[in-house]
Amino acid sequence: MVEKYAAGENIASYCTKCKINLDHAIVAMTGETIAKVKCKTCGSVHKFRNPADPPKVRTPRVKKVKIDAAVATWEAGMAEARGKEHVYSMGAKYRIGDVVDHHTFGKGIVRKLYMNKCDVLFKDKERLMASAN
Ligand SMILES: [Zn+2]
Repeated sequence: MVEKYAAGENIASYCTKCKINLDHAIVAMTGETIAKVKCKTCGSVHKFRNPADPPKVRTPRVKKVKIDAAVATWEAGMAEARGKEHVYSMGAKYRIGDVVDHHTFGKGIVRKLYMNKCDVLFKDKERLMASAN
């Protein structure tokens, strides 16, 4: 059954001002389509929005996140790091598990120690850094 509407009739519409479904009066018709309605609550005239229609919600496209193994390892390392946090300096001594904050590479975790060097896992990759070990 096709319902026919006419101007002046009552209809439930989503009110764009009240932001809820309310009783409206049809103000204008375009053929058999309700063009404009007037909200009985706030008095605003706006396009008819069928309350049965799901509101248009823009769903942001979920970017396919490449699971970067290096970043995952880094994040896990950062979460586990219990060592002290240092601002990176070539002349400093580190211990495995320490966190260094490098002005260019960001934060990294000390993974291995060598003579005057240490392996630091930064977010993008592991780097061999000079240190005073
Ligand atoms: Zn309203």
